[in-house]
Parts: sequence; C-alpha cells; structure tokens
Amino acid sequence: AKHQGKNRICFYDFVLAMESGERLRIERHLKQALNNHELTVEYQPLIDIDNQRVRGAEALCRWYHPELGMIPPDRFIPIAEQSDMIINIGAWVLQESCRAIRGWLDAGIKDVSVAVNVSVRQLCDTSFCNIVAAALKKYDLDVSSLELEITESALQSNDRVRNQLDQLRTLGVRLAIDDFGTGYSSLSRLKHLPIDRVKIDRSFVKDLPNDESDIEICRAILALCKVLDMQVTAEGVENEAQLNMLRDMGCGCIQGYYFSRSLVYERFIEWAKAYNK
Ligand code: C2E
Ligand code: CA
Ligand code: CA
Ligand code: CA
Repeated sequence: AKHQGKNRICFYDFVLAMESGERLRIERHLKQALNNHELTVEYQPLIDIDNQRVRGAEALCRWYHPELGMIPPDRFIPIAEQSDMIINIGAWVLQESCRAIRGWLDAGIKDVSVAVNVSVRQLCDTSFCNIVAAALKKYDLDVSSLELEITESALQSNDRVRNQLDQLRTLGVRLAIDDFGTGYSSLSRLKHLPIDRVKIDRSFVKDLPNDESDIEICRAILALCKVLDMQVTAEGVENEAQLNMLRDMGCGCIQGYYFSRSLVYERFIEWAKAYNK
C-alpha cells in the first residue's frame, strides 16, 4: 500500500507539472494572440421557436494558434479571466460582434441581435459600460441589437458589478443569465436581478426527453420565467426529441447543434438567409 501511495504521489506530481506547464504555455501565447490576429469570433444561430426564424446568434471566441492548433475557449478563457487579458479580449469580441451585426443588417438579415459573453472581471472595470456604448455607436446600432450573457456566479458578486449592470440596463442593453441552474442562486432570487433572459444550461437539456428530474427542472425554470416575464433560451439542443419537448413546455428560443454549430461571419449570412426562406 505504501509503495502504491508513493507511486500515486509521483503520478499526481507528474500530472500537475504537465498541467501547469501547459497552462503557462497557453498564458504566454495568449498574450500575443490578439496582436497576432489569432483570435476570431464565430456565431451560433439562435432560433425563435414561435415564428421559426433566426433571432440572432451567440458570439463565441475561437483561437487558432499556428503551432498549438485550435485551442477551445474552455481552455483559454479561464486563463484570460485570471488576468486583465480578458478585458482586452472581451472588448475585442464585443467590437467584432457589433461589426458583424452591422454587416448582417446591411446584408438584409432583419431583426437579429447578437449575444456576447461577458466575464465578471470586465464588469468590475468601471469603463465597461462606455466600451459597450462606444461599440454600438461606432457601428450605428440600436441598443436592441445587443444582449450580454453573464453567468450566474458573476451576478452574485459585488456592488461594483451590480452598479455596472444597472448602468447597462439604463443604457437599454438586455442582460441574460448564462448557464442557469449551475450556480448557487435560488430561483426566488431571480426576481431581484436586472435580467431579461435566462439560458437553461446544456447539462439540463442533454438527457431530455428521458430524464425525469431534468424534465422537472426545465419545467420549473420555464414556469418561473413566465411569472417573472423573462425570456428563455435552451442551449445544447442536439436532436428533435429535445426540441419538441422544450417547445411543448413553452421555451421560446433554441440554440444547439440540432440547428447549427457556430459559423464564421460569412457562413452565418448564408445560413440565416436559407433558414428564414
Ligand atoms: P457558453 O457561453 O455556455 O457557450 C455555449 C457553448 O456550448 C459553446 O461552446 C457552444 O459551442 C456549445 N454548444 C452549443 N450548442 C451545443 C450543442 O448542441 N451541444 C454541445 N455539446 N455543445 C453545444 P464553446 O464555443 O466551446 O465555448 C465554451 C465557453 O467558453 C462558453 O460557454 C463561454 O463560457 C466561454 N466563451 C466563449 N467565447 C467567449 C467570449 O468571447 N467571452 C467569454 N467571457 N467567454 C467566452
Ligand atoms: Ca454564453
Ligand atoms: Ca451557456
Ligand atoms: Ca457553459
């Protein structure tokens, strides 16, 4: 047993060393990624269930490194979030998204908005609201073209964040609570938050239509949002059975591979035009 324990420690040391080496490597390269134009933004369609039209897209950041290859956001965003890198990356994603929506409007795709992910560190930056206003102005966009997605845990944080959210609300920006159900906020707290939309986390969607407790969780979220007059998007919808169940429960907006993965800017135009036909 002693022998085994020692081996295990060695193994963990090895894994830890690998992980921190990998982390450092990503961090080092990430610092150059924006300047080197290695980041891009892709857009995943959001479908309005009632009128069966594209109601917009979620902007998702992508990083293609010349040597490391494609690095998924789950690997680099958390690293960026531990420093001020996320502030620059986030501001850039926001700009790109506004530029995209201006392009789509000019290409004749009507009534679409873009949802942009915002990290808590961005919200702690007192100039964030000005950055948003400037991006909208630069591309001559109505504030209704933009929605900001904030995770449940970010909403919990501090007065500074709350103050920033109130400012954004005053500006007229719609706010969505992302990955809903995975954080710690109670359902009843929802009514005190300045929120227009709830996104049901993928983890509650993936085992529909079979998992009884997931069915009840989705039902409960939808019932509550109806009472609170909040809109709901279900994310991670991959098949028709999931789509049908969520639609029958009254979910207004669907996102997932069943409709489309994230698309580059030009592909989104083609896709949206074909879908809306
Ligand atoms: P998220 O905000 O929850 O974004 C949705 C994720 O689910 C995306 O992963 C999307 O590709 C994936 N997804 C969508 N539909 C399906 C589906 O039907 N099945 C499955 N299995 N997955 C689906 P992605 O692009 O890898 O992004 C991961 C996370 O990285 C995002 O999760 C978000 O938290 C973060 N992220 C991405 N871009 C940004 C950004 O610009 N800023 C910030 N702060 N975070 C970002
Ligand atoms: Ca999101
Ligand atoms: Ca999400
Ligand atoms: Ca997520």
